[in-house]
Amino acid sequence: MTTVDFKAEVEKRKDALLADLFSLLEINSERDDSQADSAHPFGPGPVKALHKFLEIADRDGYPTKNVDNYAGHFEFGEGDEVLGIFAHMDVVPAGNGWETDPYTPTIKDGRLYARGASDDKGPTTACYYGLKIIKELGLPTSKKVRFIVGTDEESGWGDMDYYFEHVGLAKPNFGFSPDAEFPIINGEKGNITEYLHFSGENTGAARLHSFTGGLRENMVPESATAVVSGDLTDLQGKLDAFVAEHKLRGEIQEKAGQYEVTIIGKSAHGAMPASGVNGATYLALFLSQFDFVGPAQDYLEVAGKILLNDHEGKALSVDYVDEKMGALSMNAGVFRFDEKSSDNTIALNFRYPKGTSPEKIKEALETLPVGKVTLSEHDQTPHYVPLEDPLVQTLLAVYEKQTGLKGHEQVIGGGTFGRLLERGVAYGAMFPDSIDTMHQANEFIALDDLFRAAAIYAEAIYELIK
Ligand code: ZN
Ligand code: ZN
Repeated sequence: MTTVDFKAEVEKRKDALLADLFSLLEINSERDDSQADSAHPFGPGPVKALHKFLEIADRDGYPTKNVDNYAGHFEFGEGDEVLGIFAHMDVVPAGNGWETDPYTPTIKDGRLYARGASDDKGPTTACYYGLKIIKELGLPTSKKVRFIVGTDEESGWGDMDYYFEHVGLAKPNFGFSPDAEFPIINGEKGNITEYLHFSGENTGAARLHSFTGGLRENMVPESATAVVSGDLTDLQGKLDAFVAEHKLRGEIQEKAGQYEVTIIGKSAHGAMPASGVNGATYLALFLSQFDFVGPAQDYLEVAGKILLNDHEGKALSVDYVDEKMGALSMNAGVFRFDEKSSDNTIALNFRYPKGTSPEKIKEALETLPVGKVTLSEHDQTPHYVPLEDPLVQTLLAVYEKQTGLKGHEQVIGGGTFGRLLERGVAYGAMFPDSIDTMHQANEFIALDDLFRAAAIYAEAIYELIK
């Protein structure tokens, strides 16, 4: 490895780095569909931030390209092989609860507060300065770098779909995205939602009028509520015993001869269903002891007996473990049942490793007493770059050299721009001891982390393109 002192080179450029970063953070680049038009595909904010980024690159003497305000890039160096760096200029909505203005970057106690500070303008700028150091030192390189920034990472990735279709260049040969954490994310599970469909009509001794639980497919439903009537002997007594046995909370409200039954569990991220308590499956288990018939009975039996506490799909025989990527996970995320509807659903969100597929999962689900099974439009396939790949080896070696910490591979359930390339990973900029404030109020990046990351990016890029 080189003897250049990259930390010292970052030290010399701290003020310039912060000035450029501030100019990006001052732009509110939330997606705003109400102001979107053909020149501003995700609203004016993301475009403004993209322009500012390309303006900085232009100022520093790089050739730049704006692909119709969806995404843009600049290039450095020459060579047949291209290293792609993928970052993004859009931010999630600031939301409430801020102690400072989210678009007035503020340094307090060694932390830089602003929406986008850690996701992803801070890491983008650290990485930008990493490359700038290589350029300014005139280090010898043999490959080209294409630094690409998108404007719709936080929503549907429409920026990258458009970019690759219209940029007129082959995809980079390998690359990374500074939009996650160190030491590396070299694997991402597949992500698919499968919907179980039921009809609604039911006229048994007990009657299910509605069943509602869950806000998002990628969240564990904290609570669920059903409206029932008919023969429900000792409903309150049975509920009290049930919630006591399972350590839940529950309540019943009577309204015009019908009962509204609610059970409350605990929410969690849908990629980690075992850390939550799915209120909807418990409510279904509780209700399934009464005399429901038809689709209502099927709905409650599937939700309460087959899906209950089955975070790996074992009861459905869709469970699967890959040696490197780990186990499939299943989150029963959204429940919607209305007796008047002919299309009632349970949404099952799967994070799956390579070795299984949405079709295999669907076949298993079709053995349930359901009308049909359908798949979400968005399917992210499993992505994995082996530990032995020189890209992974190089990035981990630089991380270990600069931090003194041991590197290791990581597979996550989420999705980063790393998956845009077959040989693509996510790399930084959060450290193992960083506080994760991404997508939260009072988002910040510690200045030390910002500068530490810039030095790592400089050496990593250099090692990859020398
Ligand atoms: Zn991000
Ligand atoms: Zn984000």
